[in-house]
Amino acid sequence: MQTIDGLVKKIEAYDPNADIGVIRAAYAFADEAHSGQKRVTGEPYVTHSLATAMNLADMRLPTPIIAAGLLHDVPEDTKRTLAEIEERFGADVAGMVRGITKLGKLRYRGIERYLENMRKMFLAMAEDVRTVIIKFADRLHNLETLERLPPKKAYRVALESLEIFAPIANRLGMGDVKGRIEDRSFKYVYPKEYAWTESLEKTMCEGKKEYLEMVMDRTRNILGAAGIRDAEVHGRTKHLYSLYRKLLKHERDIARIYDIMAIRVVVPTIADCYAVLGVIHGTWTPLKGRIKDYIAQPKPNGYRSLHTTVFCDNGEIVEFQIRTHEMHLMNEFGIASHWQYDESKAKSKTAERQAQETKWMEQLTELQREIADKQQYLHALEEMKIDVFRDRIFVFTPKGDVIDLPEDSTPVDFAYSIHTDLGNRCASAKVNDEMAPLDRTLKSGDMVEVVIDKSRKGPNPDWLKFVKTRHARGRIRAFAKTNIRSWIKGLIPGGK
Ligand code: MN
Repeated sequence: MQTIDGLVKKIEAYDPNADIGVIRAAYAFADEAHSGQKRVTGEPYVTHSLATAMNLADMRLPTPIIAAGLLHDVPEDTKRTLAEIEERFGADVAGMVRGITKLGKLRYRGIERYLENMRKMFLAMAEDVRTVIIKFADRLHNLETLERLPPKKAYRVALESLEIFAPIANRLGMGDVKGRIEDRSFKYVYPKEYAWTESLEKTMCEGKKEYLEMVMDRTRNILGAAGIRDAEVHGRTKHLYSLYRKLLKHERDIARIYDIMAIRVVVPTIADCYAVLGVIHGTWTPLKGRIKDYIAQPKPNGYRSLHTTVFCDNGEIVEFQIRTHEMHLMNEFGIASHWQYDESKAKSKTAERQAQETKWMEQLTELQREIADKQQYLHALEEMKIDVFRDRIFVFTPKGDVIDLPEDSTPVDFAYSIHTDLGNRCASAKVNDEMAPLDRTLKSGDMVEVVIDKSRKGPNPDWLKFVKTRHARGRIRAFAKTNIRSWIKGLIPGGK
């Protein structure tokens, strides 16, 4: 059971001078505001506020963010207002709570909900990234209590987390949060695949554990003998969802995945990293093409580390990941490390750390710019490889509304998806302001305008040859039927 004292202890462990008064006050405020409210789990509501704050403290974040975490559901769910929060805790904390509250309300369904959700996340990020970090902390706890929700709702929350939250966490370099969100959602989105991956991982790891302990001991010895001081050597297991994705890439053959269990070596300086690599390669033979220098060339999200895979003792294959403490923190916490309490660097940030932070901020401004332009925004979505959008295209009306259609849809499908009458009377189309035939194949991002012929009575049956949506086909057929019927009726004396 988590308690406010537990939270205080956790904060004091990384920041002895933290303003604990604010934390206790925020907790008391949330506790009073939510009093009488229960979670679906039956627990008092404030347990959720506390769990969210705990997740933030795990990221070693400063007290204003944690206070905002404690208060994040107050304005939306209780009688207490943002104004009261501002009066009691100041504009900074209240600003973050306002950001979360704005993120919370989504009236949309289906695909629209995704688009709107994504848009809101980007906007919130652009305004204050801390808001999104709190949202992650909130979502992590919600994912923990999913089994108490009705299965349909649990599935929806998990899918949304997998498709929207995890890619954003990844883009912000928050490897730890991304991995945890994915693993918790995985179980609810693909239960069978989850069970399969889990059992596979278990059998693999159980057999290898003792062996890896032995290799880690050897590693400590050879590093010590080479004069490399203060190297920390430990094991790391791959996140389940990331293992699953890799399995899919390799025909589900686990024998082809070398990094299920890896050994991590954390050292003080960059020079040490390359020295460690040298010592490891001097002891064991590296596999060809498996040495990756993400220090010289970081991943786009800022991830930095040296990776190498070697033939270890007894010919077993083992992956090593080598990095500095600072890289490790950034790989795990990403943009959150910007606010992180760090004793040694409380005042002076290193140049490389500053450079990465500037890069993240630039990325965010970039995202913000992308969102101003809907076509760019869709492109960004594509880049994030949101699976749910596979086989769908998004086109715009002249007013800028998004219409989603199956791949290879045509202006006729587009017209019918807006209104039957528009479909029945469409004569031609403009795609991106240029005249286009009605059977033109539309692409994501196209702006489509339907030109109607007011004197036209109904659709052309020839359209059936190229329309893609069931809806359009149904409408065209239905019209043909009523037409024949009225024609026949006209032939019968006394018929209407
Ligand atoms: Mn919440």
